[in-house]
Parts: sequence; C-alpha cells; structure tokens
Amino acid sequence: MIVATTLAELRSALAPRRDAPIAVVPTMGALHEGHLSLVTAARARAATVVLTIFVNPTQFTEQADLDAYPRALDDDLAKAGAAGVDVVFAPTAAEMYPTGFATTVSIAGPLTETFEGAVRGRAHFDGVATIVSKLLLAVLADTAYFGQKDAQQVAVVRRLVRDLGIPTEIVVVPTSRDDDGLARSSRNVRLTPADRVRALALPRALAAAARAVADGEQDAAALRAIAAHELDAAGLTPDYLAVVDSDGFAELDRLDRDAVLVVAARVGAVRLLDNVVLAPVTVSSDILDDRPVAAPTGSP
Ligand code: AMP
Repeated sequence: MIVATTLAELRSALAPRRDAPIAVVPTMGALHEGHLSLVTAARARAATVVLTIFVNPTQFTEQADLDAYPRALDDDLAKAGAAGVDVVFAPTAAEMYPTGFATTVSIAGPLTETFEGAVRGRAHFDGVATIVSKLLLAVLADTAYFGQKDAQQVAVVRRLVRDLGIPTEIVVVPTSRDDDGLARSSRNVRLTPADRVRALALPRALAAAARAVADGEQDAAALRAIAAHELDAAGLTPDYLAVVDSDGFAELDRLDRDAVLVVAARVGAVRLLDNVVLAPVTVSSDILDDRPVAAPTGSP
C-alpha cells in the first residue's frame, strides 16, 4: 500500500494505474466498519482503491469539536491495508489549504442552509463542498463512495459533482450498523455506556417509522410523531427530526417523492446523526442499495 501525503505523490502513485478503474473513498479517519464497507464496495468495482484520510478543519464550526475529533493514523493504515486499499492519501492541512488559500465551493439555497447547515452553520457545507471538490479533482477517480449515514452530505456531493462537471460517479453505500442497530460513527467512542444505551432510541425511532410506512402510513407528520415518541421515551430532544426529499432536503408533507427521515440528537457529549430511506420511489443506477433500516435487535 502506498501512503501519499502530498498531491504530487498522489498523482505519481496514480499515473501508472489510470488504464483501469480507480475508486476513491473520502474519510476523516478513525476508521470503523462503516468506512470499511465503503472500501469493500469500492474494491468490487475498481482495480485501484484510494482512501483519503483528512480531518478537514474548515467543515468544523466549533473548535472544541475539531480538537475532540478522534485521530488514529497508525491504526487506520493497518485497517486500510487489511481491507485491500491500494493508495492512502493523508495530507496535512497545509497541503490542502496552502498559504493564501482563497477559493470556496459554496452551494446556494436550502440544501446547505437547513438541518446540518442550520445547526452547524453555513460554513459547514462550504467546508465539505470545498474539500470534497478538491479530493475528487485530486484523484479523478471513476467512482467515489459515500455513506447514506450522512444523507445531506450525499445530496451536497451529488449537487457539486453535477454543477462542476466532475467526471466521477457517486456511489452511495447503505448505513453500516452495530448489532444493536446504532449507526457506526467515529464519534461513538466518546459515548459513555449509559449514553450508548440512550442512543439506541435513534435507530429505534427510525425503525418504528419504517414499519409504519410498510403498514401503509404516508403522512409525514404522523411518521415524525411515531419517531418522536421513541426519542421522548429515551429523554432525547432532537436538533431536528424531519421527512425530507433526498435530493433537495425540502420537508415533505407526504411520501410522494424519494424521502428520507433524518434525525440528529445530542446524546451526552456526542451529536449523533441517523436516517432511514422511507420511499425510494425511483432508484437511480448509482445507488447500490437503499433498503430501509431493519428493526434493530431488541426493539419492540
Ligand atoms: P467520515 O470519516 O465520518 O467523514 O466518513 C467518511 C465516509 O464514511 C462518509 O461518506 C460517511 O458517510 C461514511 N460513513 C461513516 N459512517 C458510516 C456508516 N456507519 N455506514 C456507512 N457509511 C458511513
């Protein structure tokens, strides 16, 4: 496995491999099985898998969150090697943001101003869009793999790829969960044992709504109420809980388009995100598999 830390090293590692499909998996490191499920999906379709590891400072709107973000480069390299990654790109902040850096990719409109954009502030998705653009342009892969876990980020990435004409196909991989249903996240290591139990209300809430949809419920307010009930019972007050269309993140009244139920809640010291696809009315070819989440183990 090649470990590149500069754009020049990355380019020379990829130059001899460009005659066969290249896939890229962008991450912020502290790798877990969720990230590795992206690598596995990438491996299946590409001759060369590039994993990027970069804790992107510009998408953090709170310094304390950036400081507390887990970093584990040596472990990450071992996991990446075992998973069959060919090239790791782990640049420094100075490499990605050279002195005098002055260019931001900023997506206008509600997609970046609502939900995560509202809670974390405008700068969050500007930071995401800028770094993802830079990474996609640096690798120029055939395919790039992102997790459904960060549904709004997926919508942002799809938009920037379309708008900027970046010739990379975006592939979305279903959310990988622990056996108890909790969505895997680098932040989970900061949950206390008691908070980890409380956090299970998130997948329980999503599963309850998904079951209601399977039973015929189409009304967004009713679905929100079903999910809210589970969160209330665990004493969690969500930052948001909403049924939205998966492309533009506009709130829906009914499940008449591709819809996702999105939730974010602070559990102890950790902010957790989760979502479930409720109504994949049309399944685009670049979505591998967007099954609704199964009821987690132990849910009623
Ligand atoms: P992060 O390192 O948190 O920025 O995540 C890097 C990529 O892994 C993003 O595309 C995430 O959506 C994806 N990812 C993170 N957690 C999961 C998960 N539990 N299941 C699937 N993908 C995930």
